[in-house]
Amino acid sequence: MARRAAVVARGVGTTLPVFVDRAGGGVLVDVDGNSFIDFGSGIAVVGVGNAADAVVARVQEQVARFTHTCFMVTPYEGYIEVCEALNRLTPGDHEKRSALFNSGAEAVENAVKIARAHTRRQAVVAFDHGYHGRTNLTMALTAKNMPYKHSFGPFAPEVYRVPMSYPFRDPAGMTGEAAAARAIDLIEKQVGADEVAAVVIEPIQGEGGFVVPAPGFLPALARWCTDNGAVFVADEIQTGFCRTGDWFAFDHEGVVPDLVTTAKGIAGGLPLAGVTGRAEIMDAAHVGGLGGTYGGNPVACAAALGSIETMESMELVERARSIGDVMTTRLQEMAATHDAVGEVRGRGAMIAIELTRPGTTEPDAATAAAVAKACHADGLVVLTCGTYGNVLRFLPPLVMPDHLLDEGLGIIEKALASAT
Ligand SMILES: *Cc1c(COP(=O)(O)O)cnc(C)c1O
Repeated sequence: MARRAAVVARGVGTTLPVFVDRAGGGVLVDVDGNSFIDFGSGIAVVGVGNAADAVVARVQEQVARFTHTCFMVTPYEGYIEVCEALNRLTPGDHEKRSALFNSGAEAVENAVKIARAHTRRQAVVAFDHGYHGRTNLTMALTAKNMPYKHSFGPFAPEVYRVPMSYPFRDPAGMTGEAAAARAIDLIEKQVGADEVAAVVIEPIQGEGGFVVPAPGFLPALARWCTDNGAVFVADEIQTGFCRTGDWFAFDHEGVVPDLVTTAKGIAGGLPLAGVTGRAEIMDAAHVGGLGGTYGGNPVACAAALGSIETMESMELVERARSIGDVMTTRLQEMAATHDAVGEVRGRGAMIAIELTRPGTTEPDAATAAAVAKACHADGLVVLTCGTYGNVLRFLPPLVMPDHLLDEGLGIIEKALASAT
């Protein structure tokens, strides 16, 4: 840690002061030989594990063949195969096209570029509590100031924020349709329906606190986009690739987005991202208008193919659902005995607890931090999130065996008892 402080910029944070030596199967082993159960998956990345066999084999084979040519200069087959997989797996059976990039933020930026080229409009609508990345345009799309935006402005123009459906904090009984009407009213009155190029939304918000919108909210927004010629962009960067118990969280809603952004879980830990969507929208960008030196790097594509193969062969969609059932049952039992737990929510292997002052919705970030710290000390990696910093989120790798899942939940229970 002393060497880190001497050479690494202060702005790059650390959740646990633990240096990893090796990792896999839901366990991180540090350089001192300590083991940690991993409920973070490197922020929802290593669903298939940190060194999945098929990922390792394909990466080794590819890295020995060639590391890079630049797809825009001389193409290679792996990129095509990843696009074929994305077009096949993302929601909807319409004709699709994909383009590959390096990071989630880059995918979101490109989705906005494509939507603007297609609509010849400029305005982009994002939501309260939304998170879309740390580049200039995606900072503008991201809601939370600290730590993502503070002192880093000015931000990109023509980004407008409207209210999310957040059942725990919305007026009691507010339906998804009513929450959508609240957002749409602001869009129409303040932005103007025919100014909107894109509406960008996470189906379950990640950094914003694992906020699951009320049923009906996402379909109503998608319908409004269709009726008004705006591009509906699903940011599935955290929710995609089996995490929520479907290939993509939008599958659960029965909604087919116009464009889908993917990253995190796509490539078993290697940096890769994609934009996939309706052929006529994707093809609106002129030849040469999309790309980047490394986008769709052959080693990252090999990893993605190994990762997708693992998800299919190990049936990780079903596994995510059963992890979700186990976690939700145990966490609801804890909520019944610990009144600091205001809500248990999420879907599949993307579950969180929101901590509040007992009997209220008043956020309790201090208790969330204390529970996280107690978990870390007891050998469990957990992450916090949420606009108010009061949400503990659980994202185990989908390959984690039941006994580790159980042990991890036991550590959370103990931490809750000691911190409250
Ligand atoms: C992590 C995340 C991003 C940004 O991805 P990076 O790869 O960190 O640039 C964008 N959107 C969502 C929903 C995310 O969770």
